Amino acid sequence: MDGSAGFYLMKDFKNGHTGGCKCGAIRYRTVPHTGNAYVCNCHFCQRTTGGPFLVEHCFTKDEIEVLEGVPLVYTHISEGSGKEVYLHFCRDCGSHLFLTLQRWGDTMNVFTTSFDNPQEVGFDAETLRYLFLEAAQSGTITPKGFHAYEGHCAPADGSPAIEHVFGEHVLNSETDQGSGPHTGGCLCGNVRYEADDQPVAVVICHCRSCQKSLGSGVNFELLWDPDKFRITKGTPVVHRHRGGSGKALEKRFCGNCGTAIWLTGERFDEVGVFRGTLDRPNRIDVSPKTALQIFLSEALPSGTVIAGIEAFDAHRRAPDGSINTGRTYDQHWRVGDGSGL
Ligand SMILES: [Zn+2]
Ligand SMILES: [Zn+2]
Ligand SMILES: [Zn+2]
Repeated sequence: MDGSAGFYLMKDFKNGHTGGCKCGAIRYRTVPHTGNAYVCNCHFCQRTTGGPFLVEHCFTKDEIEVLEGVPLVYTHISEGSGKEVYLHFCRDCGSHLFLTLQRWGDTMNVFTTSFDNPQEVGFDAETLRYLFLEAAQSGTITPKGFHAYEGHCAPADGSPAIEHVFGEHVLNSETDQGSGPHTGGCLCGNVRYEADDQPVAVVICHCRSCQKSLGSGVNFELLWDPDKFRITKGTPVVHRHRGGSGKALEKRFCGNCGTAIWLTGERFDEVGVFRGTLDRPNRIDVSPKTALQIFLSEALPSGTVIAGIEAFDAHRRAPDGSINTGRTYDQHWRVGDGSGL
């Protein structure tokens, strides 16, 4: 190889993106993103993040450099393909950073929420595809004009993909009746819990802290009375940090697989259970009488706002205890389209 060829092969990290975990122990950089990106609603991605879906931007392994720290790696066997999937996360704070795959060995996908500035990467319909609508949680929205698939866009069994491009924003509204306690836990099953009755409220939080904490584009946090919530197996790791308001928060995550499971904090008395960890998340009612939407000001461009559910730019309750005024929209909208705010 002569010098010019070597120069040509050098990766453009200078003009790329930086990111890291929530606690700062792991830092990385990438080249400018040019590949695909996905919002994946599959059960694995729900359980991995504790959120409704994973937002990921795809790179190859030589396009990412870890600068500080060494992520833990959890190996999961995909139910769909039977192949191994590797989750890279921070041992101290549980933030997910990367996903690598046995099926596509060169690929390295970044959990989009771990970028320092996610706005730098593409969220347009050319870049971002929606996967596994068949598993979508109620309250999520498939935006109009995007390529969206019932399952994978490249099914592992070689069957044709079932694709939609909707002419309007479609609210996923699958419901799941069920009885008995709600059960849930992390991806690997080391930590399990039960909760009785229904949550006091469903807080749909778009803040950057939740994004980084979970690795999901948004957090559907279920506020549960602590007397009705109990751990039935295992001991989660506690990550102590401060929220945007400066109040102390304690996130619980699985030290083996990294799944963020629940949060307690100074600001509230309830246990904030992350809905994606439930075995049957669609048993939870997401409607104007149960839910509110907060921190729209920090939402990813892929963030969506549900019509009819009260929405706030930041917290509902101000630091002085007063209640901010929310807004209710008569149509669903997508944050990246800029309408509604
Ligand atoms: Zn960390
Ligand atoms: Zn998935
Ligand atoms: Zn686990």
